[in-house]
Amino acid sequence: MSISVSEEIRLLSPYVPGKPTSEVQREYGLTDVIKLASNENPLGTSPKVIEALKNKLSELNIYPDPSCHDLTLKLEQYWNYPSANMVIGNGSNELIDLAIRVFCEPGDKIIIPEKSFIAYEICAQAARVGVVKTPLLDIFETDFDFLYDYLKNKKTKKEKILFLANPNNPTGTYIKKEQLVKILDLTASYSDFFIFLDEAYTEFVRATDCPDGISMMSKYPHLVSCRTFSKVYGLAGLRVGALLGPTEILQWLHRVRNPFNVNSLAQVAVMAALDDKQYLENSKKIVWAGLDYFYSAFKKMSVDFIPSQGNFIMFDSREDGNDFFNRCLKKGLILRPLKPYGLKTHIRLTIGNTNENHKALEIIKSELKA
Ligand SMILES: *Cc1c(COP(=O)(O)O)cnc(C)c1O
Repeated sequence: MSISVSEEIRLLSPYVPGKPTSEVQREYGLTDVIKLASNENPLGTSPKVIEALKNKLSELNIYPDPSCHDLTLKLEQYWNYPSANMVIGNGSNELIDLAIRVFCEPGDKIIIPEKSFIAYEICAQAARVGVVKTPLLDIFETDFDFLYDYLKNKKTKKEKILFLANPNNPTGTYIKKEQLVKILDLTASYSDFFIFLDEAYTEFVRATDCPDGISMMSKYPHLVSCRTFSKVYGLAGLRVGALLGPTEILQWLHRVRNPFNVNSLAQVAVMAALDDKQYLENSKKIVWAGLDYFYSAFKKMSVDFIPSQGNFIMFDSREDGNDFFNRCLKKGLILRPLKPYGLKTHIRLTIGNTNENHKALEIIKSELKA
């Protein structure tokens, strides 16, 4: 038998997930392993979520609600945004994938800034869609003037979606509200084009000039906001994301999505997570304290880092990032080397709990070369 695939599929580099803790324990014979590699919530599962899941366990013979009716009604209250204008997805990853598959033809393109979340590129390539990358300034922020000029003077009909992760993973940088407004105003009259604002880390933002997509959507019908329950809500294992936007865009995603894309446990878990205000407050507090802890330690150690609006921090290991990563691994610390992003010496560190942060810093200190 012979079977062939397209060039794009053949050359696709699959997403490299954070190394699982159990794998590191096995490979290095370690019991004490800290994983700060996947921007997961260090607080564990909320007790309210566990309780809600227990009550649902006896109904797993029933298909999930394909419309996520109860969940979207709750989200309507929570975000003060109409439930009719939401698509719930199997993580935001599914929503990114769907947006590209639905609105781009093979040969079309998406626009992303350099060093954006890598899922956009992978999903595009799988759909035979090209990627235009706009450059960053040397402080790792998007070169806004370049992006604006590109959209104004160089964009062709082929480019259908601009993906903006705000704040961005893995850099932790963000684009300012006034910048986003300029781009939205410029592109308001463009046809077959919209802006996909990925706000996975929006709850952690402390900068006061970082935009909130939801509050801008009534004015800009070519803007959609993507939210995830994997980060501050602590539900990465259950896979839930939400896309908010106008019916003109979302109706086509609803048409194409799998009918039962969000399972029944995931639906009740998110509802319970929304009610656990204490968990959400603690998640933010622990991240903010952890960021400040690493900022001050890195400053003392003269380590170059980028101030972050997410629950992670990117720093420069000053050597091949994979080598640094591997040495930390042997000591039981799982970090994320950023070579897949073309950042050869940079490492991304997720903020953990206080104990994990102390231990991680000790290991990083001992492995950093002078
Ligand atoms: C973590 C992350 C997400 C969340 O992805 P899920 O599929 O919802 O788990 C989305 N966008 C960015 C930029 C992220 O870093």
